[in-house]
Amino acid sequence: PELLTSRSSQRLCRVIFPKSPISAWAQWQSLTTRLPKAGETVLGQKFFIGFGGKGANQCVQSARLGAKTSLICKVGNDSFGNDYVENLKKNGVSTAFVGQTTEAATGTASIIVNSEGQNVIVIVPGANLLLNSEDLKRASDVICKAKVVVCQLEISPAVSLEALKMARASGVKTLFNPAPALADLDPQFYTHSDVFCCNETENKSLKMPAILSDNHGISGPKHAEILTGIPVGNLEDAGKVGRMLLERGCKLVVVTLGAEGCVMISVEEPIPKHVPAGKVRAVDTTGAGDSFVGALAFYLAYYPKLPMEEMVRKCNCIASGTILGISASPVYEVQKEGHGLSQQQYFDEHT
Ligand code: AMP
Repeated sequence: PELLTSRSSQRLCRVIFPKSPISAWAQWQSLTTRLPKAGETVLGQKFFIGFGGKGANQCVQSARLGAKTSLICKVGNDSFGNDYVENLKKNGVSTAFVGQTTEAATGTASIIVNSEGQNVIVIVPGANLLLNSEDLKRASDVICKAKVVVCQLEISPAVSLEALKMARASGVKTLFNPAPALADLDPQFYTHSDVFCCNETENKSLKMPAILSDNHGISGPKHAEILTGIPVGNLEDAGKVGRMLLERGCKLVVVTLGAEGCVMISVEEPIPKHVPAGKVRAVDTTGAGDSFVGALAFYLAYYPKLPMEEMVRKCNCIASGTILGISASPVYEVQKEGHGLSQQQYFDEHT
């Protein structure tokens, strides 16, 4: 579930927060008081089957902001795959390039979340790894005519890179989210990303509570550190990561920092800038990073003239709005905890 293309605006922008993160992973989520130890069985309180995966979460977030989106991915020719395609359609995402294969099952993510919001996750990529160059060629029209193409690393990195190159060759803006992080990332990813958006969340010196460890997606934490070797202990470190990534060829880098918002730096403005997030009471941070990236794609595509700092501030706000409820549950549809505002009202008030 890796590519998002946002094309010409046809609808009025209305902000709708994800009711559940969606993607080419079938997501099984069990809620328990505490996480089981190896060999232990614990009693859970709730079980959901939902849809997850970075690419599709980002795509759906963008679509819910009003973007015209298309997802290029592969799922299995199984019930999860069928439901998945339906779900994308329901969210207004084009499924013209969502392939279904008999050669592998739809990717799955099994997630256990405790009452503090911490989670453990097992992912089985399945059909995701079968997305190939041929699939990209079939989708070349949509890639090359997009306003923005977003790629991640939950498919084969070579295919992601190829998509970025196709986009770039057609003058399409590229947004790359190096997740899950790879220590030996092909250096061409830096030079082919107009915006490089990575995260660093698991960070005690930034005074983030344990529940804010990297559970925004379905893969591992500390992209920034894995990519650069710089452990991010404070905002200054995030700036150092940004500088290093600029040196590697990125034009603009955003390092997201969980509750602290993010730090951005660009070739034009090489002094790192901290853009704080609003204070919210986190219930479940699953999908926050994806929400941020999806929102950024939307603003890059539809409001390209907006100053970057303003875009990023709005993205912080949208991402913060997604952590107010339990993902994949109807909680997203009810009033926000604490201040009694709906997420739409929250967004309207804060952007
Ligand atoms: P992360 O991937 O954890 O860095 O989070 C991505 C974005 O989600 C951050 O840049 C924030 O905008 C938002 N976010 C994540 N966690 C929180 C939180 N606890 N409070 C407010 N915003 C958050």
